[in-house]
Amino acid sequence: MRGTKILATVGPASIAVPTLKAMLLAGANGFRLNYSHGSPSEHQQWLERIRRVARAHDEPVAIVGDLQGPKIRIGDLTAPRLVLADRGELTLDERPAPGTAQRIPVSLRGIDRYGQAGDPILLGDGSIELRVKRVVAGGLETEIVHGGLLTPHAGLYLPRARLRATVLGAKDRLDLHDAVTGGVDYIAVSFVRSAGDLRKVRREIDRLRPPRGAFSPVGLIAKIERAEALANIDEILDEADAIMVARGDLGIEVPLERLALEQKGLVRKANAAGKTVIVATQMLLSMVSSPRPTRAEATDVANAVLDGADAVMLSEESAVGQFPAESVAWLDRITRATEPSLEASRFDFDPDPSLPPEAHVAGSAVELAARTRSVAIATPTHSGKTARLVSRLRPPVPIWAFTTSEEVRRRLALAWGVRSYRSPIHQPLLDARELAVRVARAQGLGRGTLVLTAGYPLEGRPTNLVTLVELGPERAASGRRARAAPAARRGAGAGAAPR
Ligand code: PEP
Repeated sequence: MRGTKILATVGPASIAVPTLKAMLLAGANGFRLNYSHGSPSEHQQWLERIRRVARAHDEPVAIVGDLQGPKIRIGDLTAPRLVLADRGELTLDERPAPGTAQRIPVSLRGIDRYGQAGDPILLGDGSIELRVKRVVAGGLETEIVHGGLLTPHAGLYLPRARLRATVLGAKDRLDLHDAVTGGVDYIAVSFVRSAGDLRKVRREIDRLRPPRGAFSPVGLIAKIERAEALANIDEILDEADAIMVARGDLGIEVPLERLALEQKGLVRKANAAGKTVIVATQMLLSMVSSPRPTRAEATDVANAVLDGADAVMLSEESAVGQFPAESVAWLDRITRATEPSLEASRFDFDPDPSLPPEAHVAGSAVELAARTRSVAIATPTHSGKTARLVSRLRPPVPIWAFTTSEEVRRRLALAWGVRSYRSPIHQPLLDARELAVRVARAQGLGRGTLVLTAGYPLEGRPTNLVTLVELGPERAASGRRARAAPAARRGAGAGAAPR
């Protein structure tokens, strides 16, 4: 069983249908379209291909549309990689002509207003460092302090500049429109500073795809990559459906030596709030050109699992690397090998009275499943909320979410430990019980118990009930229950493998 989910960024290296299929079969649960790269027609094609491959395998796959936001990037280059040598000279300007090792285009209007002689400038993941020598009309002339390999559209960071930045610029609005009308499941918002930034994006999404009651068909992922977001994390978690520890830009914004601690703090807070948390960037970076990860990368992925990440993400590895499916397969191997060491039920029973009653019902379900060594927790869910409340407690057994909505199924594809199943529209308690028993049998789990949560007396009520269902031979489902042998109970948990 694998509880931790895998999100893979698509790009030129992975967008052929056979590669997408290989990534799905290797264990990808979701795909990210990075709107910093590619054209609108490419994004549309990527979306359609992912949906086609997911449908062919009947898998609820989450698609994340990641908006560029106010990130400054360099433009096209004359080569896929340029070598910038230490102590060389490099001019940054606004002309769109592809860049060379002497001058590169930058997506910042009035760049000459944002630098002074002596200011540092960082490129890519921050490893390339420039220093401004002279400000000239429409550009900045710089000296290369630390050189390196530069790729097209790399990020550009001006630590001393005070840039006025909105999370939803003109390009983002167009991309948001295409993503939401094209049917993505999540929008990832880059460079979030506050809950207000998220509300702004939410209003725009609601206009494009109106919510049904309280349920919006598109989830919001707040990318945490600014120091301000760290300071406002509680209000951001209230507003977001998920957060991403976006270590690429966060690693420039906070001292690199503090990054691991910030990651741990963010994951802990998201877990406590019951919000999905994705750990991202450079997880298996060496696999861009190598078929195996380094020791440090394998350890980093394992540590993200132990921290409590719901999902781990691939960026360049799957977007432009040589081994996209192998990278997914390695995440699958490392997460599976690590999860048995996750502390079971990390949050136990939260006595916090401010939690909604459903959170305590979820706690009871997890406690009951652990005590009875049940094979699974089956949880009918309208919006995915109950399944998330159960997932938040990281139970030692699979979580089966039953829902009528394909949108909810796709959203839950990124929630730790949740495997979703279609259920009929009306689902009184007995039907839910039958469905859970059928799912167990289909997985060869004919003995032991499973825990079922429900809204009683009618489906649609908040989840308020936990019950123990005994599995047994076929006839037991119609009422005559067989008692499960204790040894079989102890073997519970195997088999129902969330991907
Ligand atoms: C990051 O900065 O870590 C990140 C995920 O953002 P992007 O890949 O869009 O730069």
